[in-house]
Amino acid sequence: MKVTLLSYTKDAERLCAAAARSCYSKKGASKLLEEIDEERAGKAISDITGMGHHSVIEHASYTFSIEGVSRALTHQLVRHRIASFSQQSQRYVSLKEAAFVTPPSIAEDDELKSEFDEMMAKAWECYRKLSEKVPAEDARYVLPNACTTNITVTMNARELWHFFCLRCCRRAQWELREVADEMLRQVKRVSPSIFSGAGPGCVRGPCPEGKMTCGKSRRQELKSLK
Ligand SMILES: Cc1cc2nc3c(=O)[nH]c(=O)nc-3n(C[C@H](O)[C@H](O)[C@H](O)COP(=O)(O)OP(=O)(O)OC[C@H]3O[C@@H](n4cnc5c(N)ncnc54)[C@H](O)[C@@H]3O)c2cc1C
Repeated sequence: MKVTLLSYTKDAERLCAAAARSCYSKKGASKLLEEIDEERAGKAISDITGMGHHSVIEHASYTFSIEGVSRALTHQLVRHRIASFSQQSQRYVSLKEAAFVTPPSIAEDDELKSEFDEMMAKAWECYRKLSEKVPAEDARYVLPNACTTNITVTMNARELWHFFCLRCCRRAQWELREVADEMLRQVKRVSPSIFSGAGPGCVRGPCPEGKMTCGKSRRQELKSLK
């Protein structure tokens, strides 16, 4: 699995702070952007988002390349509708070499792993045979959820906040949680004020999951992400 922050809004924190201040000023955002420094921008963002005015951070966008993850992961990822996606095609890209993700729970059990590997080998053997006779778009029906893929995703900071709430939670599926944690680590580096406090609900207060709570806060663990 490889997660790369490819691109993001330049000066995101000053930009969002200038946009926020333009709501309460006679000056326009162009003038306010010239005037505001990073420190004041960080403070303005914390104040405004702390009040629940999250729309101002929609002005900042972040684009990631997520590579070598399973189709099981991307199926969950694309459920997030306030985002843009470009995914490697199984119609146009030949997948003749077996490439798949093995969940750790399977990898750590020799017997299960050998059964799993055998099924993967069979799936790809069948895929190769089918590919000789039918279009790739039909041969791919035999490929498993474990099949690896690459996807490019763009989200604005507000959607990322929401995504981190759901997907950095211990209740989220392990592979997507690993990707979400890595995305959080990378955006915190470039926009620390926008994403300070981002993560599952337990980072900010009591767990919102009620009876489904895992009972183990991620507060300390995510606070120390570098
Ligand atoms: C632990 C976990 C288990 C899950 N299990 C299942 C499952 O078993 N089956 C399943 O189908 N899905 C499951 N999901 C996926 C889940 O139901 C959501 O589809 C996914 O998390 C996307 O979240 P979302 O809809 O809140 O956010 P996004 O699509 O990212 O949208 C962000 C926010 O925008 C607003 N919004 C977006 N679109 C609309 C709209 N059309 N109308 C009104 N408001 C909108 C909402 O406030 C939404 O929260 C699971 C998710 C998690 C985290």
